[in-house]
Amino acid sequence: MQNMKQDKRAFNLCVRCGTCRTVCPAFLESGWESANTRGRMMIIKELTSGRLQADGDVLRSLNTCTTCGLCTENCPAGISPPEIIERARRMLAIQGKVTPEQDALSRSIFQSGNTFGTGDDRLAWLQDRSLVRKKADYVYFVGCMNSYRYHETAKNTFSLLSRFGATLLPGEQCCGSPLLRMGFDASELIEENSRQIREIGASTVITGCAGCYTTLKNSYGNQFQVLSVPEFLASHISEIDLKPLDITVTYHDPCHLGRHNRIYEQPRQVIRAICRLVEMKASRNAARCCGGGGGVRAGYKDLSLQMARRRLEDVPDDVDYIVTSCPLCIRNLRDGGGGEKVIDLVDLVGMAME
Ligand code: SF4
Ligand code: SF4
Repeated sequence: MQNMKQDKRAFNLCVRCGTCRTVCPAFLESGWESANTRGRMMIIKELTSGRLQADGDVLRSLNTCTTCGLCTENCPAGISPPEIIERARRMLAIQGKVTPEQDALSRSIFQSGNTFGTGDDRLAWLQDRSLVRKKADYVYFVGCMNSYRYHETAKNTFSLLSRFGATLLPGEQCCGSPLLRMGFDASELIEENSRQIREIGASTVITGCAGCYTTLKNSYGNQFQVLSVPEFLASHISEIDLKPLDITVTYHDPCHLGRHNRIYEQPRQVIRAICRLVEMKASRNAARCCGGGGGVRAGYKDLSLQMARRRLEDVPDDVDYIVTSCPLCIRNLRDGGGGEKVIDLVDLVGMAME
């Protein structure tokens, strides 16, 4: 528990005001004190002091945090609970105190290099492999979800980025995000992806997944520039031939693109170049979480989908699409009832290019 002891000062700063209770999406669904930020801070404090053992209830409390960062945004004491929670998860994982779902997901990733535990070709979505160059300045990092589940989005993204000279990693592995969020070690995956990026000689890695983005940016040791697809598209918008569409869309801010990395304006700039944008009831730094992050979807699917349904209540009436820029948000919001109305920003750009 050494690192957790180092966190002692941080969670001692929690004044137990309960401001976080009003925003924590997991608490809004369950109502249990142990499922809100304040409860989690108290539990971590007791764990660190040795007065509490990590039983099933403790694991549920710490592992139902989506790491959305809404509490950080609102905490008057200025602490960052998701960081403290992730470090607590790390210490518990080192001791082997993980849930069966976390154990299964981490084994899948360690064995197969992807979150689905599949041995299928990661580049099955790509028909013309002549576009994959051995050397390039840009790399498109596809991520597990788009590689295996959302092939059209992967195709549309690469078709756009390859115009600017981007290539792909020949043997891309999971970026490591699910492992890090759940408290596991991701150094082997990070080293393997980094080695391939270095071999290509790329200075910039571009990704369309918010989870990959925050991981590549914050856990790969600043070896290269990392851009999200919305950032890249916004800076090249005048070079893409877009025809205006007579539709109205709204935009869901993925937590790990918005609150965690402050990318709010670029996706909106791209949308406004194509069609009308109306904001959700809560947006930008106040946007509610889709419920899919932090390993919550894998471990607590019902809770995760309840959060998605709550987020969908923020969608304005009569929009044609709910646009976002993260395949995890897309999956959760679709499964929560948004259906095919939920699309990736790149797919909207694709419609405007037809
Ligand atoms: S808002 Fe901050 S200080 Fe207040 S209870 Fe929550 S974590 Fe503690
Ligand atoms: S990061 Fe989100 S889910 Fe986790 S404690 Fe904070 S508000 Fe709740």
